Amino acid sequence: MNPKIVRGQDGRIVTILKRNWEEIVADFWSRVKIGEPSECWEWQGGRNGPPPIKHYGIMWINGKKWKTHVLSWIIHFQSTNGLCVCHLCDNPPCCNPAHLWIGTFGDNNRDKAKKGRSNPERGESRYNATLTESEVREIRRRFKSHTTGPDSGVSLAKEFGVGSTMISAIVNRRRWSHVQ
Ligand SMILES: [Zn+2]
Repeated sequence: MNPKIVRGQDGRIVTILKRNWEEIVADFWSRVKIGEPSECWEWQGGRNGPPPIKHYGIMWINGKKWKTHVLSWIIHFQSTNGLCVCHLCDNPPCCNPAHLWIGTFGDNNRDKAKKGRSNPERGESRYNATLTESEVREIRRRFKSHTTGPDSGVSLAKEFGVGSTMISAIVNRRRWSHVQ
């Protein structure tokens, strides 16, 4: 995957040079403490502010400062489309793609308001469902982080004909959470 042009969190278009992308990704993962799939994977490099507050991780690319959870999103799912990359785990330096989701700031607030309540939107009975429950299970089984192969978020999105935002939501169980 070679995203040449992406939109930053502020919605502005930002260019990452294609020839540097593989190096950028390797550099990125060399500074993330990768743990179990369910654990937080914290950025080990610079942060956006001093301790004791746990600030976002920061990585500089071609003179631009990037939040590391936003970079993790781009590595796995390509563009942020100008939306907000949020943490399910409320741990700012975490870069585990399974702990990230994307939405507008309004979504973020609604999600916070909804936490603790059951979600009435369930699976295949929804009129606009495009995946079956077995496909959802297959996506979860196959999804691999920090890869560009056929089981990356982008490739799975293409294969199943959905957006990469949907793949993320399936992997981190914001959608289809009733499917085991
Ligand atoms: Zn986390």
